[in-house]
Amino acid sequence: MTDTNKIAVIPGDGIGKEVVAEGVKVLTALREHRGRNLELLHYDLGADRFLADGTTFPDEVRDTIRNECKAVLLGAMGDPRVPGMEHARDIIFGLRFGFDLYCNLRPVVCLHDSLMPLKGRTAKDCDMVVFRENTEGVYVAMGGQFKRGTPDEVAINEDLNTRKGVERIIRAAFEYATRHGRKKVTMVDKSNAMRHAHELWQRVFAEVSKEHAGLETNHQYVDAFCFNLIRDPSQFDVVVTSNLFGDIVTDLGASLQGGLGMAASANIRPDGVGMFEPVHGSAPDIAGQGKANPLATVLTIGMMMTHLGYDEDEPFLTDLVRQAIDAGECTADVGGKRTTSQVGDWIVSRIAGG
Ligand code: ATP
Repeated sequence: MTDTNKIAVIPGDGIGKEVVAEGVKVLTALREHRGRNLELLHYDLGADRFLADGTTFPDEVRDTIRNECKAVLLGAMGDPRVPGMEHARDIIFGLRFGFDLYCNLRPVVCLHDSLMPLKGRTAKDCDMVVFRENTEGVYVAMGGQFKRGTPDEVAINEDLNTRKGVERIIRAAFEYATRHGRKKVTMVDKSNAMRHAHELWQRVFAEVSKEHAGLETNHQYVDAFCFNLIRDPSQFDVVVTSNLFGDIVTDLGASLQGGLGMAASANIRPDGVGMFEPVHGSAPDIAGQGKANPLATVLTIGMMMTHLGYDEDEPFLTDLVRQAIDAGECTADVGGKRTTSQVGDWIVSRIAGG
């Protein structure tokens, strides 16, 4: 018997709570029907708790996650009642920066022809994995404002790129490609304009690619990448890019997957706890109405199961998601008529059926 895999569950705000409720059902079903050794630790962190008692991301929760958990399932953060997003910043950055989860892994896979928005393309044309650097770039919030509110105002945000940070995400992309039998690694940068920072990316990419001679490599400027992603997504396989560009291009990618309700992500490093979250936000416009698509969360749990060593669960859950779309057992954003919890129940019934 292996050690129990403890998973911290943080639903967060808005539809995060609704999709994580379905995620909990899925994890429970994997434990009960597939014998997975999982224990869930529930934390009610989010806007409600922050507004009630000022709690954001307590040290004891951070320590329990660090010392005991192998994974975190996070719903979404963001609530109109907290416009400054204080709670969200502490929780998300506490996990991402606090645990140095440098690798944001985002599959951009279209699972069903009915979800493909591009004319003349089918689902098989969109099957790539984006590696987004997750701890540097403009997200370090270095910079400042000078003469604020005057006509001479100056505002600066620095884009931080370290040799260590660039190298480890590029290595992660190449190692993933090799391990998963992928053929090609594309780096997306803007080295023609960001001459210092992205020259570093270029140099490291060239160095690391020499260690993986069996893989085809190329680079595209981010503008050309966006153009080509829509023109012909089939040319991309594994993609590695910076924090800011990764944020932008994966939302574009989500539109090829059937929308934000279908996009999964993992925030990981090879040797520690991983944080798993659907790409979408808290979507206040549809919160509390049973409209939220929980399938991104099901796919995200698939990624978590791979991280926990249950590799066969990710293709199993991915196939169930494909079947749900095919059978119309899905929410309106992907062509169905079901509510959030009906979709979760359908997935669970299929897990129970083997
Ligand atoms: P954030 O600022 O928190 O990142 P965002 O601006 O990216 O959020 P989201 O909350 O992610 O916005 O969603 C944008 C819109 O997409 C929502 O308003 C909603 O209509 C739709 N949407 C997002 N996620 C889902 C989902 N899981 N199911 C159905 N619709 C969704």
